[in-house]
Amino acid sequence: MPEEQDSDSTPGLAEEVTAWLDAHWDPDLPVEDWWRLVGRAGWTAPHLPVEQGGRGLSRRDATRVRSLFASYGALRPPGGLGLLMAGPTILTHGTPEQIERHVPPILEGRLAWCQLFSEPGAGSDLAGLTTKAERDGDHWIITGQKVWSSQALESDYGMLLARTDPDAVKHAGISWFAFELDQPGVTIRPLTEMTGDAVFNEVFLDGAVCADADLIGGQGNGWAVTQTTLFFERSGIGAGGGHAGFPKPGPKGGALGRSAGDAAGDEPPGGNIIISLPDLIALARRTGRDTDANIRQKLARLATYTDIGGWNAQRGKAEGGGGAVVTIGKLVQTKIMKLSSEIALDILGADGMLTGADGPDGGRYAHAFVFAPASSIYGGTDEIQRNIVAERSLGLPKEVPPDKGVPFAEARRRQAARLAG
Ligand SMILES: Cc1cc2nc3c(=O)[nH]c(=O)nc-3n(C[C@H](O)[C@H](O)[C@H](O)COP(=O)(O)OP(=O)(O)OC[C@H]3O[C@@H](n4cnc5c(N)ncnc54)[C@H](O)[C@@H]3O)c2cc1C
Repeated sequence: MPEEQDSDSTPGLAEEVTAWLDAHWDPDLPVEDWWRLVGRAGWTAPHLPVEQGGRGLSRRDATRVRSLFASYGALRPPGGLGLLMAGPTILTHGTPEQIERHVPPILEGRLAWCQLFSEPGAGSDLAGLTTKAERDGDHWIITGQKVWSSQALESDYGMLLARTDPDAVKHAGISWFAFELDQPGVTIRPLTEMTGDAVFNEVFLDGAVCADADLIGGQGNGWAVTQTTLFFERSGIGAGGGHAGFPKPGPKGGALGRSAGDAAGDEPPGGNIIISLPDLIALARRTGRDTDANIRQKLARLATYTDIGGWNAQRGKAEGGGGAVVTIGKLVQTKIMKLSSEIALDILGADGMLTGADGPDGGRYAHAFVFAPASSIYGGTDEIQRNIVAERSLGLPKEVPPDKGVPFAEARRRQAARLAG
């Protein structure tokens, strides 16, 4: 059944989505065919202009389209990191040929992407990355190591940052590549988190190859391209989207061959679930803990953060997005994820610590609790977000990095000499 019409949404949107689903939804179709139909009709990213594969709707309406699909009982459009970050980055910085080659497979859920940014020595200081790309004719040879690469094992492409000019200053010698993962020079090893899941991986690159045609945004321009990727990552997290899409897109995700009707019944994976305020209130009532003053106070705090997040999003909408709004949105989302899982465990007491099938509601509260600390790390740590607000929005003095203005290779040599004493 269609949702009720939002006062400020496109008139007739619910009717239009419902009419399209009436005409096209077929639970017996394989997911691959369903997502192709959905993507080609512009429903995967309906906020994009029509000529980019969308329907020219607002972002708010685009979110609404997904819930309209879900409330109809149809499988939602594909998601994942390609849709969250790679697609918008390539649409912003790619050539028409790159857009044509990379964006439709994302919109149709045919290929999955991961983000190959962080390295063992480069996280918050991302521009300190040392994975190198050396030109060899019309190709680049890539050598180095990435880490914490979420969903790399199930991905077909990586958003790869590599140093293409070690003699340029730190931020100027980096380039952004659309990098094919299925090739001999790539080894991916899963890392198990404290949830027991292995969402992220380490990725070893040993003479791997990337075509020059897949260098996005031009050589040495990777830092500017990265700002776009991070903007979309943080906006997505701030909007409560988290990191994952389900079911997973791409041939390795395991969903493409299933029937769309079957996949439509999937529950979201545990890791990124945010336990909502109404869920917690219902849980408190169900367990008789709704009269406990401590629980009520924490619920009120959570309601406050939730409202602040909502107002911040409205402000972003009014101001056209960007700036401190995205950063604050991510910080608020971290608070919400941590506090909501903490309240769930406060309500449930020792029972809340049970995981899996033994735990209440399939162990989702314990899972959310052990996953929650990750929210203040991925997409840039809370400390880094606060630095951004302080420096870019409040105009406080910037930290002066020791390697400012120095060619990257020279800065590394100086650092090595310092460490050697
Ligand atoms: C669940 C999860 C998924 C992730 N997925 C991906 C992924 O798909 N792809 C990817 O590339 N990366 C991914 N990451 C990595 C993430 O982006 C990094 O962990 C993050 O940027 C922090 O880097 P670091 O771990 O090297 O910590 P460090 O940078 O070493 O930071 C350590 C501590 O020092 C603090 N700190 C560092 N510099 C400053 C400063 N200048 N001022 C104040 N405090 C500072 C930090 O806030 C932090 O508390 C993921 C991380 C998690 C937890």
